[in-house]
Amino acid sequence: APVIGVLALQGDVREHVAALAAAGADARPVRRPAELDAVDGLVIPGGESTTMSKLADIFEMREPIDKRIADGMPVYGSCAGLIMLATEVLDGRPDQRGFAGIDMTVRRNAFGRQVDSFEAPVTVVGVPGEPFHAVFIRAPWVERVGAGVEVIGVVSDGPAADRIVAVRQGNLLATSFHPELTGDLRVHAYFVDLVRAAS
Ligand code: GLN
Repeated sequence: APVIGVLALQGDVREHVAALAAAGADARPVRRPAELDAVDGLVIPGGESTTMSKLADIFEMREPIDKRIADGMPVYGSCAGLIMLATEVLDGRPDQRGFAGIDMTVRRNAFGRQVDSFEAPVTVVGVPGEPFHAVFIRAPWVERVGAGVEVIGVVSDGPAADRIVAVRQGNLLATSFHPELTGDLRVHAYFVDLVRAAS
């Protein structure tokens, strides 16, 4: 089975480890450069991107992750993880920084205060079956994607209809929502396949 790490600086690490294991990966938390060396792919969980950015420096994980991404390691970022993979962040803290990532502009906490957390149907290209029952928690959306970025998921209904919430650029995958919280394993299975294909 492909070995997939979950960046364990902050956020909902356990839920991703469980979802990856259920989707057939050898899943484990990753907090140190030596642990990163041992994985074929990495998940950046939901949480708080400003905190994660600081901890990436403190734990000296920034450079090793940038380097693995440049070498083609598959990475999947969910919510705060999507923010950490963006080349440009709107409404971020001035000192927050992501990893060498997806050519896109994302807006933090984009859906507004009144809708701190909500659910909406999302169809993801390349993932067969019913639309996702997607859960958003103080979620970002994607406002711009570069030429190399595929939009693979938009909200299909409701007040946030047509907002971009899932993208892929090569081996990098990101969603604004949290499939690790709903027991729907299809995004994790998609990522496990991507890691298998890349290793
Ligand atoms: N608002 C958070 C951030 O800016 C993301 C929320 C989440 O990951 N659920 O990082």
